[in-house]
Amino acid sequence: MALIVQKFGGTSVGTVERIEQVAEKVKKFRDGGDDIVVVVSAMSGETNRLIDLAKQISDQPVPRELDVMVSTGEQVTIALLAMALIKRGVPAVSYTGNQVRILTDSAHTKARILQIDAQRIQRDIKAGRVVVVAGFQGVDEKGNITTLGRGGSDTTGVALAAALKADECQIYTDVDGVYTTDPRVVAKAQRLDKITFEEMLEMASLGSKVLQIRAVEFAGKYSVPLRVLHSFQEGPGTLITLDEEESMEQPIISGIAFNRDEAKLTIRGVPDTPGVAFKILGPISAANVEVDMIVQNVAHDNTTDFTFTVHRNDYNNALQVLQSIANEMGAREVIGDTDIAKVSIVGVGMRSHAGVASRMFEALAKENINIQMISTSEIKVSVVIEEKYLELAVRALHTAFELDAPAAGNTAE
Ligand code: ADP
Ligand code: ASP
Ligand code: MG
Repeated sequence: MALIVQKFGGTSVGTVERIEQVAEKVKKFRDGGDDIVVVVSAMSGETNRLIDLAKQISDQPVPRELDVMVSTGEQVTIALLAMALIKRGVPAVSYTGNQVRILTDSAHTKARILQIDAQRIQRDIKAGRVVVVAGFQGVDEKGNITTLGRGGSDTTGVALAAALKADECQIYTDVDGVYTTDPRVVAKAQRLDKITFEEMLEMASLGSKVLQIRAVEFAGKYSVPLRVLHSFQEGPGTLITLDEEESMEQPIISGIAFNRDEAKLTIRGVPDTPGVAFKILGPISAANVEVDMIVQNVAHDNTTDFTFTVHRNDYNNALQVLQSIANEMGAREVIGDTDIAKVSIVGVGMRSHAGVASRMFEALAKENINIQMISTSEIKVSVVIEEKYLELAVRALHTAFELDAPAAGNTAE
């Protein structure tokens, strides 16, 4: 008999009918002899609806109150699912994050889980009950409701699995696993049987929202067996694994991630003196703006250009800060650009293969796509391009790195 934590995302509980279907599925597992803890998200669209309501009151709602409100989405689905289970004769009980006691820090809207009190859930499991826990939410030391950031129910699922020492954490969603890239953008994307934690971490942090990055971090840290599966279709899904198989057939690139959430800022003609980077980025970081990619050009006539990217939500804030720095430093001008996108190729195979980056640049050049910025690490290469070329770039790279699924009809044998 296994203990399984099953997390169902927003579309999987998007209607009452779907919630009934989830109840059927959970019942089947339980009838098979497994102990089940379920984590659910809010019904699809609900979290966005709640955030929109808050924005009608204020552009920047007070984070504590925003958390009080957005956490209600998950409170609705846990109750509905528990009712649907009880209706089927399955003893079930629902808990909010506060009731379990999912203790987090106090960073409202992006809190981190510090500790989970597993005792209450363990007592329920012993008594034969299915426990249904609200994803995405916790409580801080002072009893304030907190939330874990968008997509945070994944992290609730993994953290519970770690705390309960579950045999597996299953993330049920609207695709049947992790693909080589977002299957909604590239029709020829292929499901991966396995992906390493390291690669999944890069994919998630570079924009693949199929798993929240913290969920992957948590699973890696506590060795939680993690699998992504389709809620309503049978199949093996994708296993996130620790082992990095060295196989000849292993593709160099495992996946392609992309992100439209960034904006680019350039300060031109800054005097090229020691401490320039700090003079520019110090105030940016003091304004609580996180910087992603950074490029400083080689100096020319004792001045240089300095470019970096930030989250699009921070763009206006960063632009203002940069303008005042520019005045102070006597820089020539400040240029901003929000029509950018970042495309990244990810794969542990890069460690043992040379020329991966140039192959990427060649594929983009063939499509006449201009690269604005480049950054590399051991297992990824990222480029910033004009946003309108994003889909073309992802498709071209998918083909260039031989990730395309065989054309229909060739798969018969
Ligand atoms: P849920 O509501 O179940 O948490 P999400 O919308 O958060 O679901 O995540 C699932 C979505 O992630 C898919 O519908 C798909 O469009 C997107 N996605 C992005 N990159 C990938 C990828 N590499 N593999 C699979 N899905 C991906
Ligand atoms: N409901 C939250 C969101 O939409 C959490 C989640 O779905 O994982 O971001
Ligand atoms: Mg999600």
